Amino acid sequence: MPQIHCRKCDTDAEIMTENLFLGKLEEEVKQNVCGACWEEWNKPGGVKTMVINEYRLNLGDEHARATLKNQMRAFLKLDGGETEFKDYRT
Ligand SMILES: [Zn+2]
Repeated sequence: MPQIHCRKCDTDAEIMTENLFLGKLEEEVKQNVCGACWEEWNKPGGVKTMVINEYRLNLGDEHARATLKNQMRAFLKLDGGETEFKDYRT
């Protein structure tokens, strides 16, 4: 299995092989994020859910989807995140 270096937790891990349904971001996420960190973001009740609730995002709205994408980039430490990720869980 090819290895990647996860930016989020700063460790080497096997690349994720499942479809993440991210479209253009799919490859970027897979090359830079490990499965465990992705799971932390994406799982039910995970960080993504927290962000949606905190910002009251309606994902039918384009602006809301952009906000969510920015938060995802910030959380996963990908380039181009325009905002700093604030962890409301702590
Ligand atoms: Zn990781």
